[in-house]
Amino acid sequence: MQAQLPQRMVGLGTQRSVIRELFEFGKLRAAQIGAENVFDFSIGNPSVPAPDCVNETAVDLLQNTDSVLLHGYTSAQGDLGVRTRFADSINRRFGAKIGPNNLYITVGAAASLCCCLGGLCCPEDEVIVFAPYFPEYKVFIEGAGAKMVLIPADIEAFQIDFEALERSITPHTKAVIVNSPNNPSGAVYSEQTVRKLADLLETKSQEYHHPIFLISDEPYREIVFGGVTVPYLPAFYKDTLVCYSFSKSLSLPGERLGYIIVPDEVTDSELVYAAICGAGRSLGYVNAPSLFQRVCAACCDVTADITVYETNRNLLVKGLRDMGFTVVEPGGTFYIFPRTLEADDVAFCERAKQYDLLIVPGTGFGCPGHTRISYCVPTERIERALPVFEKLAQSYRK
Ligand code: PLP
Repeated sequence: MQAQLPQRMVGLGTQRSVIRELFEFGKLRAAQIGAENVFDFSIGNPSVPAPDCVNETAVDLLQNTDSVLLHGYTSAQGDLGVRTRFADSINRRFGAKIGPNNLYITVGAAASLCCCLGGLCCPEDEVIVFAPYFPEYKVFIEGAGAKMVLIPADIEAFQIDFEALERSITPHTKAVIVNSPNNPSGAVYSEQTVRKLADLLETKSQEYHHPIFLISDEPYREIVFGGVTVPYLPAFYKDTLVCYSFSKSLSLPGERLGYIIVPDEVTDSELVYAAICGAGRSLGYVNAPSLFQRVCAACCDVTADITVYETNRNLLVKGLRDMGFTVVEPGGTFYIFPRTLEADDVAFCERAKQYDLLIVPGTGFGCPGHTRISYCVPTERIERALPVFEKLAQSYRK
């Protein structure tokens, strides 16, 4: 007897990601040669603690709130008081004019994306994504029954190749996903890029007589350096849905909390909001964790201390450039995406592994010839790793 199972799901559940494999390899090597001799830059888990506000609020809530209320169901789209608090914060920070009914609280950016895609996509729809991209986009888009269309990377600056984008928009284009600050390049879209994107989507929406939605995936919104600002996209393009998460800004990836903004200006905004609620319902993404809704409401104007990320970025940019790597300086996140020293990024990362440097090939992000280095690690690891990167670079000079 054999169970008949959907092959797509079996495949998704059994294929190990490259990042996971590196992580397992790292554990194995640490047991063999000591953890201090393994330079694991594979995973994007925030390395700084959550701000004090998080633990203090959680303890206070646990000690002083009626436990039935605290641990009970909230509204499917999130507690009204929490949504009001998020809306006030967004209005204050970005000059927006949203209310609680423009917000849907979810378990992180991943769920936000799935709810938006599920709420927007019909069969035959296409969703445009820019390389390099977060690999789960493909899974989420296909899960919503749509097709992912990939725009090759602008490897000079990691902004947008507008000619390629214009060629790729068709009558089937339902949405475009952007992720700025970007995983894996760390690039932040300039205001000029955002304006150009908004103009093009506006023109194409008119041409095809339906809105092309912009889905802005923003888990790294606050993780920017040296005065870089992240444009608030609904102010530039009316059909924008924002997918936000507290995973990185508050260092809370395990607590699973984020939200979707559906501004009133979005075409048929009430229907779109209803469809997102429907997608949330159909996916089971209702009633995000009640305790952490309230914790995030109290801490939504705070950011974890990200100075270590900036220190690490500066060390890596300078160190890698001195060794001959071509690097676009990241404006934010905790990733850097240098060009590999041979065209085959998978072979390059395999060679790096021989030096116990665990870095991820760009191919999985749709951008071969590059490697992602996650620098959400103690600075001391970067300092000790730089001579090892130098040895790797030297091996290519011979
Ligand atoms: N989008 C991007 C670009 C990410 O890098 C991540 C996580 O690393 C996510 C979405 C998912 O974030 P969350 O943990 O909030 O679901």
